[in-house]
Amino acid sequence: MIDLRSLVRTIPDYPKPGIQFRDITTLIGDAAGFRDVVGALSGRFAGAGVTKVAGIEARGFILGGAVAHQLGVGFVPVRKQGKLPYQVIGHDYDLEYGTDRIEIHVDAVETGERVLLVDDLIATGGTAVAASRLLQQAGATLAGSAFIIELPALGGRKKLEALGQPVHALIAFDGH
Ligand code: AMP
Repeated sequence: MIDLRSLVRTIPDYPKPGIQFRDITTLIGDAAGFRDVVGALSGRFAGAGVTKVAGIEARGFILGGAVAHQLGVGFVPVRKQGKLPYQVIGHDYDLEYGTDRIEIHVDAVETGERVLLVDDLIATGGTAVAASRLLQQAGATLAGSAFIIELPALGGRKKLEALGQPVHALIAFDGH
């Protein structure tokens, strides 16, 4: 397996001072790196009875689409408010300042479907918890959540696991 950490580009103080931005464009731009992360994330959940993959806008679309293809299941885009063209259901969640809302189409999942949630990175877990709740609200069961990167200092994993799903991340970085 190749060294995924070295393929992630770190940009200090972006988008604001104190944040180390973990940029995965360098990783997914590398053929072997992209193939390895998609293989590792889908391999972990092969045999877990996944019936749909849900990806969080926007980097979760790139990964989630590839993981869905690999698992042989359909894909559900979890989008920011106002982007989806048909009837939606949404979930509000708190940000550091203010609130945000994510949405899926009302018919994106059927009751009892086992959904795997995919994003590039889990930090505080706020976004992934909101997406998980939204999928549950739509009648889905959470088969798990999969990320390339986790930032353990921010505690997102525990919040997601508290919803009763396994959480899988391929690499971890210290700090924010
Ligand atoms: P959170 O809701 O705090 O878990 O934040 C997760 C979302 O914000 C993901 O969609 C990430 O892409 C993005 N994000 C948060 N922190 C970082 C970081 N240090 N580097 C890159 N993306 C980040």
